[in-house]
Formats: sequence, C-alpha cells, structure tokens
Amino acid sequence: MMMIPSFAAGQWVAPDSGARSIACAITGEVIAQAGNSSMDMGEMHAYARDVGGPALRALTFHDRARMLKALALHLTEHKQALYDLSFQTGATQADHAFDIDGGIGTMFVFASKGRREMPDAQIYLDGEIEQLGRKGTFLGQHVCVPLQGVGIHINAYNFPVWGMLEKFAPTFLAGVPSIVKPATATCYVTHLCVQLMLDSGILPEGSLQLVSGGVGDLLLHTDAQDVVSFTGSAQTALGLRATPHLLENAVRFVAEQDSLNASVLGADVTPDTPEFDLFIREAHREMTTKAGQKCTAIRRIMAPAAHVDAVIEALSAKLSQTVIGDPRDATTGMGALVSRSQRDDVLEKAALIATQAERVCGNPDDFAVQGADHDKGAFLPPMLFHCDDPDAATHVHDTEAFGPVSTVMPYRDADHAIALLNRGKGSLVASVITRDGDLARQMVMGSAAWHGRLYFNNADSMKESTGHGAPMPHMIHGGPGRAGGGEEQGGVRGVLHYMQRTAVQGSPDILTAIGQQWVPGAIEITGGAHPFTRTFHQLQLGETLHTPARKVTLQDIETFAHFTGDTFYGHMDEEAARANPFFPGRVAHGYLLLSFAAGLFVQPDPGPVLANTGLANLNFMKPVSPDEEIKVRLTVKKKTPRTDTYGQVRWHVTVTNQDDELVAEYELLTMNAYEAT
Ligand code: NAP
Repeated sequence: MMMIPSFAAGQWVAPDSGARSIACAITGEVIAQAGNSSMDMGEMHAYARDVGGPALRALTFHDRARMLKALALHLTEHKQALYDLSFQTGATQADHAFDIDGGIGTMFVFASKGRREMPDAQIYLDGEIEQLGRKGTFLGQHVCVPLQGVGIHINAYNFPVWGMLEKFAPTFLAGVPSIVKPATATCYVTHLCVQLMLDSGILPEGSLQLVSGGVGDLLLHTDAQDVVSFTGSAQTALGLRATPHLLENAVRFVAEQDSLNASVLGADVTPDTPEFDLFIREAHREMTTKAGQKCTAIRRIMAPAAHVDAVIEALSAKLSQTVIGDPRDATTGMGALVSRSQRDDVLEKAALIATQAERVCGNPDDFAVQGADHDKGAFLPPMLFHCDDPDAATHVHDTEAFGPVSTVMPYRDADHAIALLNRGKGSLVASVITRDGDLARQMVMGSAAWHGRLYFNNADSMKESTGHGAPMPHMIHGGPGRAGGGEEQGGVRGVLHYMQRTAVQGSPDILTAIGQQWVPGAIEITGGAHPFTRTFHQLQLGETLHTPARKVTLQDIETFAHFTGDTFYGHMDEEAARANPFFPGRVAHGYLLLSFAAGLFVQPDPGPVLANTGLANLNFMKPVSPDEEIKVRLTVKKKTPRTDTYGQVRWHVTVTNQDDELVAEYELLTMNAYEAT
C-alpha cells in the first residue's frame, strides 16, 4: 500500500484517517491512500507567497529557464520510475509518451523559450514603446511583472505528469510559486514526479508544494494575486468558478474543460487517397490512446455522406484489431480506464448516445482482454457509433463519454460541416483532413471562433504533423465556450497568465532604467573607447558611437550598381527615378547606405565582437541623392547572454543626412565575447 503524502510548507505530510483509497486500474485492488483533512491550507498558501514568491522573483527569466532545463534533464534520467508506476493507471508505454515524455518535453520547450524569447531580467517588456508627446520626452511601455501570489493548479486524472508540468513550467518561468493538486485517482504518479523535482535540489524553497487528496479550504485563502488554474470536467469547473470568495476577490480563474472535439474528412478526400488512411489513423489513435481519456480526443467524426460507410468500415476494422489488455504488455494497443467507476460513467454516457446513434463497433458485454482479469480491471472496447441524422441528434454533440467512444456522422457540404462542428458549443481542437486551401480558409472563417485549435493535415504534412490530440507547448491549448474559455501554453503567452501587465509612463531615461533596454532619447554615454573594443560585460546600455560624415557620390552609386548587379532604375536612370513618387532623381541604394554605415562604425581589429548575426526592424526613411552626406549613431540597446562565453548585443542604429534628417534606422545584432581574447 502506497501512503501518498502531501508536501506542505516544506514538510511531507502523511495521509490521515480521512484519506481516500485509490485502486489499480488493471486489477481493481486498492494500492494507495491519499489525503489529509487536517492540513493547514492557509499556512501552505502563505508559505508559497512569502517564501517561494520572493525567492523566485529574485531570479531572472534566464535563471528560471536554466532551472527548468535542469529539472527536465533530471526527470529524463528518472523517467523509467515514472513509467513503471504509471502502468497502474491503465496507461500503456505509448500513453507514457504523451504524459511523461510529453510533460518533460514541455518543460524543455519553456526552458528554451525563456532563454530565447524573454530577457535576462526580472521585468518582461510587452510590445513597443509608445510615444505620447510630440518631442519624445514622455513615453509609454507595457511591462509584465510576476504576480505576488500563488499558482494553484487543480488537474484532471488523465495526465498525472503532463497535466502538472504544462502548468508548472510557465508558472515557474513567470516567477510564481505553485501549489499542485492532482486528481486523487492518479496522484501517486504526480507525487513521484514532485518528489523527484524536490529531491533534485534545483528548486528554490517554497516554489512547489503538493496537495494529495482534497484541497480543503485552500481556495478561501486566495486573493487577486493568485491564479487558480483548473483542468477537469465542466461540472467541477462551474462549481469552482462560482465560489463566492473567488468572485469577491477577483481571483483569476482559468479553466480547461471537457469538449466534444471533432474531425472532418474534407470533401476532396476519397477512400483511395493517402489522406483517407491518415483520417482513419488519426481517428483510431484518438479513440485508443489513454483509452480515449484525453480532453482533445475526437468524439465526433464527420465525413461526406458518400464516404460514411467507407469510414465506418475502415475504422471498425482497425479498432477490432486493437489488442485490449494489460498495459505493461508490449502488444497491448489499449490499456484500461483509470477506474471501474470511470468505466461505468463511460457506459452510462455511451448508453445516452446510443439513444440517438447506432453502435457499429465494440460491444462492452463481449470483448477480449489480454493478460488481465476482464472483470477486475477497468477495461472497455473502443466503441464506434453511427448517427445518420446529426441535425436532429443532441447527445452526440453534448455528451462527453470520457473513454474510447466516438460517433461517425454525415455532412452535406462545407457549411453543413461547419454547423455540425460548432454544435459542440466550444471545443479544444477540430481537425480537417484536406488538400483544399479554399476549404481550409472557409473552415477557419466559419468555425475558428468556436475552437481553440484548428488542425489541418494532408499527405504533405502528415509525416511531421504532431497529431490532432497533442497540445504543443508552442501553441495555445484551451478553447472557448464549453471547453472552459481558457488558454494555456502558447509559448510566452502561457507565462503571461501568471504575470500582471502594467502600463508604465515616463521619460526615456526612466523607461530605460525600468526595462533594462535603451530607449531613444535616453542619455547616451560617449567619449570612451570604441564600443567594438569592449567586452560584453564592459558595454553599458546607452554606450554610443557617433561617426564622422561620409559623402555619397554618383560614382559610388555606379560602382555599387555594377559590382552587385543591382541596376534598378531608381539608382541608374535619372528620368525614370524622377517619375517615381519616392525619389527626387537617382538615389543611393539602401544596401549601399548600410554598407557605408558599417564602414563608418566598425573597428576592424580582432576583438570582442565575434559576428554580425543580423539586422532587425530596418526602415529606410529618406532617400540619399548623389553628393549628400550620411553619418551614423550606434548605441547599445540591449544585452542578452547566450552561452557560457558570449552574448548578443542589440545596437540601435540611426543613419542621418547632412541636415540631421533620419535616413535609416535599424537594430544591429552582434555576438560579443564576455572576456577579451
Ligand atoms: P474532475 O472530476 O472535474 O476533477 C478535476 C480536478 O478537480 C481533480 O483534481 C479533482 O480532485 C478536483 N476537484 C473535484 N472537486 C473539487 C472541489 N470541490 N474543489 C477542488 N477541487 C475539486 O475531472 P476528472 O475526472 O479528473 O477529469 C476528467 C475530465 O477532465 C474530463 O471531462 C476531461 O474532458 C477533462 N479534461 C480536460 C482537459 C483540458 O485540458 N481541457 C485535460 C484533461 C481532462 P479529486 O480527484 O480529488 O476529486
């Protein structure tokens, strides 16, 4: 018997007499107990807020991203232990790829995005500077700072590892501590994962706590600095969302709920094409992975009326060949549901669907189970239904049987398919298998507003495609309406859910100091050594080089044109150039100006500047005519460490003419060594 503790205020707390029993999905035997009704939830909340929060906020995004990567590596080393335990939830090795490997992979993605897309600082800048006065001495900038509360994560039973890590990673990266409450049925797997994370010694104290069992009065200790992030059924979400304390205190509440996800076979796809096989493969995978206990699983399968029979035949054949049994057996294609009560719930919902659709595959009263006791484990066969009148039917669009259950239905044309898709009243994902770009656009216009994700796939993309049911950490996960209205993940967007966006206004110097990014108009540091001779660490924000002027002659333009082959008329033909509304006559190439600018600002000797890796936000504002002059201002705008030996310097560059008018403006990106060589 596993006694599953909680981790509260720095201590492991064993279950008490009020603990709940947890059964093995394969044998039905009680294998664990979890829950302690006397835990002080107020103390847990305060510990996260007062110990974890300040420790996390003292770090930069890059510090936290590096910790996430170290945690992901640590979990990778120990994932076999997670696999071994997780079989007892009914999951197969293939299911572990979604839950355990998927969870760890999500951490790696957030670790990488944190380093590449967020600053090595404590404040995240959201969007560009807004100029609020005519002269540029008063500006605005949106900034995001970590909330000063706690991320409370209440998760569903079906993904004990991924469900936790996909919420923990963005919360941690934001600089906010987490209290994780997994569903009791599979909390023993989450507990092992949390224990591994805590044992790694990587996490700052107070940044992660675990509630095994009920949450008691935890939600009553929350305030507007907290985020309650829930995943589970619509019914539980509704109850929690409506908690008066949350409403009275404007506590952020994010919900990922169940939904009636659908997949559409495009009218352009016929049974003899690779797309048809792809459609069947995806539908089969979604019905059988995790025994259909996936929030993104395909519940409704829509095919042009002419191909419904072919879809039923092909999918039924594949489902009938799926071996159901002990998930530890490598030949098993589908394991058990999490518990016999979950199995009974699915049978109840399937019976409701059966009142409006005919079961065409899978008989729950007659199916084989390999290597396990049919009656003791929570096994079910995949069940396929056919609903021939989906307009009149209601249950197929509103009843989620959270197991291996799906319904095939016909559609007449694209508008009809869209109408049926949207009958789910909000879903996490809808897929369309098609090669037809016009149909794809029509689907987006007609149904994107009802779905969190639209997944188009065909023979061109299928080899690399990530799967209808796989939420990717780069893309938002969640959906409108019935799906809960939440948005998780989506890269940095997911991190921002745990931060406060605040508009700050002030002078360029004030905004430079806040954002750790030089703002035009802020003080320039001039007169020192050439910035190209200074190491990454020596360079300061605002360090500036003003170059002498250089005349651009007609001969320069001629030479550049013939040397590069760019003999565009604007540079070569006076009359044609004059007829162009942008040019007063022949003008210098923009690329010539950039090249002359580089010639003006570089310091040629070997030194800390290792490479020019790009230009960003380049704009040409005013053409330069022969015999006009240009000069350059080069200023250190931002510094971002990249490796152990060098970092990126983003320089703000302006090119101006003899009248100080702006000719070009851009950002130059260089890699600069930390140490002088
Ligand atoms: P559930 O019964 O709604 O439970 C979800 C979580 O809420 C569990 O941790 C549960 O804890 C907790 N909970 C229940 N009552 C609570 C209360 N009064 N106060 C605080 N917490 C409470 O859902 P489930 O059966 O675990 O999961 C299946 C459902 O989740 C399906 O409907 C599925 O579609 C949905 N789901 C959605 C997503 C998504 O990303 N959108 C992902 C996975 C699953 P206990 O276990 O201790 O009761």
